[in-house]
Amino acid sequence: MLSGHWKQKLIRYAHTGTDYKLPMRNSLDLPRTILGRKITQRKNMNLSFSFQNKIKGEVLYDEMMSKYTSMRIGGPADIFILPANLRDLQIVLKNRGSSPVWIIGEGTNTLVRDQGIRGIVISLKNCFKLIKRPVFYKSLDGKDKAVIQVDGGVKLSYLAKFTARYGLKGIENFVGIPGSVGGSIVMNAGAEGAEISHVLRSIKFMTLDGEIKTYSKNEMAFAYRKTTFPVNDGIVIEAELELEKGRIVDIHREIDKYLTRRGSTQPLNMPNSGSIFKNPPGKKAGSLIESAGLKGFRIGGASVSIKHANFIVNKGGASADDVVRLIKHIKDVVEEKSGVKLEQEIVVI
Ligand SMILES: Cc1cc2nc3c(=O)[nH]c(=O)nc-3n(C[C@H](O)[C@H](O)[C@H](O)COP(=O)(O)OP(=O)(O)OC[C@H]3O[C@@H](n4cnc5c(N)ncnc54)[C@H](O)[C@@H]3O)c2cc1C
Repeated sequence: MLSGHWKQKLIRYAHTGTDYKLPMRNSLDLPRTILGRKITQRKNMNLSFSFQNKIKGEVLYDEMMSKYTSMRIGGPADIFILPANLRDLQIVLKNRGSSPVWIIGEGTNTLVRDQGIRGIVISLKNCFKLIKRPVFYKSLDGKDKAVIQVDGGVKLSYLAKFTARYGLKGIENFVGIPGSVGGSIVMNAGAEGAEISHVLRSIKFMTLDGEIKTYSKNEMAFAYRKTTFPVNDGIVIEAELELEKGRIVDIHREIDKYLTRRGSTQPLNMPNSGSIFKNPPGKKAGSLIESAGLKGFRIGGASVSIKHANFIVNKGGASADDVVRLIKHIKDVVEEKSGVKLEQEIVVI
């Protein structure tokens, strides 16, 4: 016999359609004991199942992160979501419960551990790809400038070539940086003495609760290869950059020069994550590693590049553990030989 309380609940359920969820306890929520071990269902799996029906984008389970990192390394993510649009992203964030969330752009500065990632990984590979046409104006000091609006999932290298076509300068030296605009803002990426924060005007940011906020550059905080506020707890979905007008031929000449230099100094034919260490003040991490005699030094499938000592390359079958051990070895040897403590640039998840 059902109690009056349960009868009422069932009647309400019958009248409210499918969206109303009966607060009945699923037997899988309860820990079960098999051969003396408590087995509790992974909460995340429950969550991901409902995402699959609610969003347009893709939801994958136990997806190998090695497919999404430039190092080609990384174990499985419990739930890997490729939102198709802003609404998808909001649905995921608003319904994630207590699951931790990780964001991945192009994965060119990230090392994912072999054990993979517990929780939800959101990849911006399939969305936020729009670049709006630049809006030109004359600044108070008489310079021809333009503001360009770009989505967080656009590749920085593509953006650099796009703005060059309009004769806009300021990011032409970022043409060889393979990350996304969002990832580059989080990392405050840069090259040839310039940083993306130098040309940033504002960002549109989604908090991990799915709310959208806008921050102007002066509300943000930047450091060398890191934006310290506000990017730790949200997603950069859009940015506005302010660029200066230049001569198209000069900009293209610079782009060719940068790409040629990178091709000859970086191991671009092998999986890598760019610079592993930040340059210590007044010094080059690569020179310190080279002077310590570590070029070519190898642990498992991970090796210090012969071409550029601040790069670790995956020679084939490298595990994240190989890379982590190699990083530690480099730090120890460089400190012992030169007294300099190297600081890691890549993000390890
Ligand atoms: C061959 C090579 C050359 C490189 N050269 C340079 C260089 O010259 N200068 C330089 O600075 N870097 C360089 N890099 C490193 C890398 O490309 C940059 O740091 C890039 O900005 C990272 O972007 P990403 O999308 O790949 O970020 P990811 O590696 O995907 O992520 C990096 C961090 O940003 C976060 N993140 C990513 N996207 C978002 C988002 N939309 N919102 C919030 N958080 C986000 C991630 O959670 C993570 O913490 C190089 C890398 C390679 C492989």
